[in-house]
Amino acid sequence: MRPITYQRATDAPSAVQALAAAASANNSLIDAAVQPLAGGTTLLDLMKLDVMRPSVLVDINPLSDAWSAVTLDGGNLKLGALARMSDVAANPDVQRNYPVIAESLKLAASPQLRNMASLGGNVLQRTRCTYFRDVSYDNCNKRNPGSGCAAMDGFNRTHAVLGTSEQCIATYPGDAPDVEVRPILPGEVDAGNYQPRPEDIKKIGDLDAVTAAVCDVGLEAVPGEEVSYSPIMAHAVLGQCVRRLDGGKRRLRDIAREELLEPLGMADTALGATTALAPRAVMPRVSDDSPGMFDASALVGLGLAIPHPELNIEIPAGGFVSTAADVFRFAETMRQGGAWNGKRVLSRPMVELATSNHTGARANDLWTYARELKGWPLFPANLGLGFFLRGEGLHPTYFGHLSTPGTYGAMGAGTTNFWVDPVRNITMVCLTTGFLEEANSALRFQRLSDVAIAEFA
Ligand SMILES: Cc1cc2nc3c(=O)[nH]c(=O)nc-3n(C[C@H](O)[C@H](O)[C@H](O)COP(=O)(O)OP(=O)(O)OC[C@H]3O[C@@H](n4cnc5c(N)ncnc54)[C@H](O)[C@@H]3O)c2cc1C
Ligand code: SF4
Repeated sequence: MRPITYQRATDAPSAVQALAAAASANNSLIDAAVQPLAGGTTLLDLMKLDVMRPSVLVDINPLSDAWSAVTLDGGNLKLGALARMSDVAANPDVQRNYPVIAESLKLAASPQLRNMASLGGNVLQRTRCTYFRDVSYDNCNKRNPGSGCAAMDGFNRTHAVLGTSEQCIATYPGDAPDVEVRPILPGEVDAGNYQPRPEDIKKIGDLDAVTAAVCDVGLEAVPGEEVSYSPIMAHAVLGQCVRRLDGGKRRLRDIAREELLEPLGMADTALGATTALAPRAVMPRVSDDSPGMFDASALVGLGLAIPHPELNIEIPAGGFVSTAADVFRFAETMRQGGAWNGKRVLSRPMVELATSNHTGARANDLWTYARELKGWPLFPANLGLGFFLRGEGLHPTYFGHLSTPGTYGAMGAGTTNFWVDPVRNITMVCLTTGFLEEANSALRFQRLSDVAIAEFA
C-alpha cells in the first residue's frame, strides 16, 4: 500500500504550480511524484499494476469548462486536453471535417471508457507492451532505464518493425493521435480539412515534386503481398515512369494529348484544363458528406482547382477534364481491342493484359473502412493494369451484379464511372458532379449499371 495525496486543481495556475513540484522531485516515469489525473483510465490501471507510483495526484477535472472545448478555428481543429473521446467523436464539426478522427475515436475502447477518457490522456497514454506493464520483468528500458528490453527476444507480435530504437521496440497504442495526416508533399498539405490554396495545388500538380515526395515515404505494404490502393501517389509514379520511358522531355499532359487524346479524337479532354475547356467546366459539389474514405470538401476543393489553366498542373489521378462523349470514345476503344476508327493506340494483347486480374484473390485495402463501418464482405480486389474488374461472385461492385466477370472499367472518387462488358458488348459511361461517399457511390453505380444491363443486354 502506498499513500497518495489527492489534490483538486481549482484553477490553471494552481494546477501548474502543483505539477511544477514534480520537476524538483525524482522524475523517472514510474516515480514521478506528481501526476495530473484526467479520466484516470490509464493512470489508475498503471498505478494498480505498480508501474506508476505517484505520491500526489492533481485532479484537473475541475478545469473541464476551460479545457474541454472543441473548436474549428480558421480551418484548424483545436481539441481541449480535457475533451472526452465520446464528445469529440460526436462533435458535428469533427464528423463533417475530420471523419477519420471521429471514426477512430468511435472504434476505440468501450463507451464507458470513451465517456471518461480525455484527449490529453489519450495522447499521453503509455505503451501496451506486456513487459512494460508487468513489473515482474526487470528488463524494460522504458520502465527501468538501462535494464534491457524483454520484448526483443520475447513476445513482440504487436510491436514496431519500423521506427524502433536499439533500446525499445514498443508502439504507441492510441488510435486518434495516430490519425496523423502524413505530409506527402514538400511544404505539407493538411488533408484533414483541405481547402487547397493555389500554391498547394501547384505542388500536387507538379509531377516531379510529388514523385520525389513519394520516394521519401516509407513502405506501406510489401509489394506483391497486399493490395494497397493509393491513387494520387500510384498514378503520379506511373505517370513519371511513362515520362522517363518517353525520354523525359515531354510533360505527361503533352504525351497524353499527342499519343492518346488526339489520335482518338478526344478533343474535349485534357490532363489539367486548357484555356478552351475551362469555361465549360461543371463545378463539383458535395452531395453526401457521410463519413467514409475521403473528405468530401477536400475533393471538391481539388475539383474546383483543376479547371484553372493558369495553374498549369498535371495530376494523373483525377486531374483530367473530359466529357461523357470523350470518355465513351476511350471506353469503346478498349472494347474494340485498342483501336477507334482505324486509329490504334493499344495492341489487342496489351488490352487483354491490362484488363486481366493481376491481384488474384487478395482484397483491396481501399475497402477496409467499408468492411469496418458498413459491414461490407471481404472480396478480391480484382485489379487489372489501370482498371478495376468485375470478377466472380456477388459483392459490392461499380459495374452491377448483372455484368459478366470480365467487365472492366474505372471510376473517379465518388462521382464518375465507366465500364465495358466485353461479353454483353455494352459500354456504360456516367459522369456526375455531386460527390457521394465512395461506398455509397459504388452502390449507386451498381444499381444504375444493373438497370442499364437489364434494359440493353
Ligand atoms: C480497456 C481499455 C481499452 C482501451 N482501448 C483503447 C483503444 O482502442 N484505442 C485508444 O486509443 N485507446 C484505448 N485505451 C486507452 C484510453 O484511450 C486511454 O486510457 C485514455 O484516453 C486516457 O485518458 P484519461 O483521461 O483517462 O487519462 P489519464 O489516465 O487520466 O492520464 C493518462 C496520463 O496522461 C497524463 N495526463 C492526462 N491529462 C493530462 C494533461 N492535460 N496534461 C498533462 N498530463 C496529462 C496523466 O498524468 C497520465 O500520466 C484503452 C484503455 C483501456 C483501459
Ligand atoms: S519494447 Fe522493450 S523497452 Fe520497450 S516497453 Fe517493451 S519491454 Fe520495455
